[in-house]
Amino acid sequence: MRRESRAAARERLTAISRLLRERYPTAECALRYEGDPWRLLVMGRLSAQCTDARVNEVAVPLFARYPTAAAMAAADPRELEALVRPCGLFRTKARDLILASRRLTEVYGGRLPDSMEELLTLPGVGRKIANLLLGDIFGRSCVVADTHMIRLSGRWGFTPEDKRDPLLVERTLTPLLSEENASELCHRAVLFGREVCTARSPDCRHCELCRAGLCRFSERSRYE
Ligand code: SF4
Repeated sequence: MRRESRAAARERLTAISRLLRERYPTAECALRYEGDPWRLLVMGRLSAQCTDARVNEVAVPLFARYPTAAAMAAADPRELEALVRPCGLFRTKARDLILASRRLTEVYGGRLPDSMEELLTLPGVGRKIANLLLGDIFGRSCVVADTHMIRLSGRWGFTPEDKRDPLLVERTLTPLLSEENASELCHRAVLFGREVCTARSPDCRHCELCRAGLCRFSERSRYE
């Protein structure tokens, strides 16, 4: 990885963020939830090793059956497992959802807490889901280090490309994004990572970041 000053890295990431904003003016979460913010927690948990499209489908009958955290806290595990089965890892996910909904109801009166520390006490909630909730529900600027953000951070040259370390990505990008909304950048990164900079074949020839000289991966590939 080429050494770059903190100021230069911040300037480059800001420029990347602005170009992605031009491409995707609306930065929306790919998980489509409505109503109670607890639903985004549920969908975030279901999205582990599952596509967002599948989670969006499963969410419809799921929230019709369990519209609130209190209802899910009292769910019959077998019934809940059957509903979330299409998302994979269904036993673990159903168990986490019941326990998290129970804690949310008993300790927080059914309302999501607004701190990382408290969110992490909910079963099945790790830093990725907590950052998603803090950004989308509470309007904070948080780096959601999902598979797309980790890959893009590596290709852009902010973190080692061969290291899939979400915490490193979060800790590296957060201070560089003080003037940008990190949560919005992460939502745009999902779209960009699906359409242009895909895991298998990044389309550098049609990428504005390549043209603007902002991506280390494309710089390297040009000289190899
Ligand atoms: S230049 Fe290539 S590797 Fe870099 S962001 Fe664009 S598509 Fe991805």
